[in-house]
Amino acid sequence: MNKEQFADNHFIRTIIDEDLASGKHTAIQTRFPPEPNGYLHIGHAKSICLNFGLAYVYDGLCNLRFDDTNPEKENQEYVDSIKEDVHWLGFDWAGEPRYASDYFDQLFDYAVGLIKDGKAYVDDLSAEEMREYRGTLTEPGKNSPYRERSIEENLDLFMRMKDGEFPDGSKTLRLKIDMASGNVNLRDPVIYRIRRAYHHNTGNTWCIYPMYDYTHAISDAIEHVTHSLCTLEFEAHRPLYDWVLDNIPIDNHPRQYEFSRLELLYSITSKRKLNQLVSEGHVQGWDDPRMPTISGMRRRGYTPEGLRLFAKRVGISKSENVVDMSVLEGAIREELEDSAPRMMAVLNPIKVELVNYDEALTQSRSAPYHPNHPEFGEREVPISKTLYIEADDFSLNPPPGWQRLTVGGEVRLRYSYVIKCEEAVTDSSGRVVLLKCSIDHDTLGKKPEGRKVKGVIHWLSAEHAVAATVRLYDRLFTVPRPDAVRGDDGQYRDFTEFLNPDSMTQIDAWVEPVAATLAPETRYQFERLGYFVTDRYEHKPDDPLFNRTVALKDTWQKAE
Ligand code: ATP
Ligand code: MG
Repeated sequence: MNKEQFADNHFIRTIIDEDLASGKHTAIQTRFPPEPNGYLHIGHAKSICLNFGLAYVYDGLCNLRFDDTNPEKENQEYVDSIKEDVHWLGFDWAGEPRYASDYFDQLFDYAVGLIKDGKAYVDDLSAEEMREYRGTLTEPGKNSPYRERSIEENLDLFMRMKDGEFPDGSKTLRLKIDMASGNVNLRDPVIYRIRRAYHHNTGNTWCIYPMYDYTHAISDAIEHVTHSLCTLEFEAHRPLYDWVLDNIPIDNHPRQYEFSRLELLYSITSKRKLNQLVSEGHVQGWDDPRMPTISGMRRRGYTPEGLRLFAKRVGISKSENVVDMSVLEGAIREELEDSAPRMMAVLNPIKVELVNYDEALTQSRSAPYHPNHPEFGEREVPISKTLYIEADDFSLNPPPGWQRLTVGGEVRLRYSYVIKCEEAVTDSSGRVVLLKCSIDHDTLGKKPEGRKVKGVIHWLSAEHAVAATVRLYDRLFTVPRPDAVRGDDGQYRDFTEFLNPDSMTQIDAWVEPVAATLAPETRYQFERLGYFVTDRYEHKPDDPLFNRTVALKDTWQKAE
């Protein structure tokens, strides 16, 4: 990694530069605070690159903190996957991972302090009553009848809430702020609720759990976070964040700044909805290569470098950040162009018989794994009497300008000879099943005499090729914003209605012998076809399995 990668200017960098110049801070501390209620997705990758990237650029620190205040939805599998994904993206957190649940005692003590200061009270309103009392965006709320309980009574009730004397949902602890505030978040927000749920870290120790806003502000302050960066939907929560820190005895006050959420077209960026895809079996798991999860993209063959390049390109601002899939694929492709070695593969084969193949005369050649990177090495590309070429590279009735194979036409085999198609053999249904071709033996490594052969195609020797399974992926949804389509009744339609039934195709293909030696998660460009990766879990050297990461934008046409 290098600092250039994160060097773009954006408003948060301006703020940090000012804070460092003015001496407000001498070092910066950020945090990435996922809730462990699912696997991380492409939106989180943006937030990770921002938070860890800033720490990296400014020689500061970034914590990984699990915001684990909803025990029913959270678990260790998600914690583990999040750690793995952050590491895989190329980042490391300062010290041990933190958990909001590590602070449950402190959070409880601060709540007791707020009660003692007359700034919090125990409420008996039910959830539904509370909604009625809350008012609306245009009407003020009403005070709860329990709002004026004495400090002693509140202290007693809160202790008994903690001790498990009351049923789930029967009481809450609320901040006493202002039921008439124009900001609904300040209308006496609940900061504790009763919930008898097993917690992945604290087990059954607690039956009351603190709410997100309260927890988040205090966790940031405990960790001496200087810049607390979150997405724009938390803008209206900022006054509450500040209120909490202004009303507890804590020695520092992090500042919250908001940036826009990344949305990826033809995709979904919500853990809850991604969870639905997994639990309803629409995909094969969180790390299905079609998923916009970090682990899915990893399995698809995306690289950490490519994802970081993407995050840099989408940028940080407060304006809408809706990005087309082509931006993501472009970054991945661009990064793979120079990092992935190349080989040939035939995905949809048709057989070629070389009628004048002559073991004594016909030669194989050695070819580099990458035209611009001799350090990637070379291998022999063996030739034999029978070849496979791509069925698409032959046409019986070619359109004008056709540069690939047709009866009577010539084409160069990549890294090998020019061949001419003498005859197309068809079966009883008229389908071409075999091409009989002749080699011009005078064209190995040199141009043919007296004519130009422009087309170059990829091919494999049938005798040497290795059978492989290849999975081709297309976008997971058929509409750009699957979770924003409304029906005739004005209601949102279920986004699973827009799943693309053809998002995955599995085919039998042929690849070069080197495929039988590859470890899982090895990336190659298959020339003219795209970038591919050996599957992280199912690939075996004696039974190769490739995922197509991304297609090539252009097929090359130039002669070698
Ligand atoms: P989700 O709805 O998918 O669960 P979230 O915001 O609730 O998203 P968290 O686990 O709370 O998920 O997010 C951790 C951090 O990642 C937060 O700071 C959040 O703002 C950020 N984040 C989440 N989604 C995006 C996104 N689409 N773009 C940018 N940042 C995001
Ligand atoms: Mg969330």
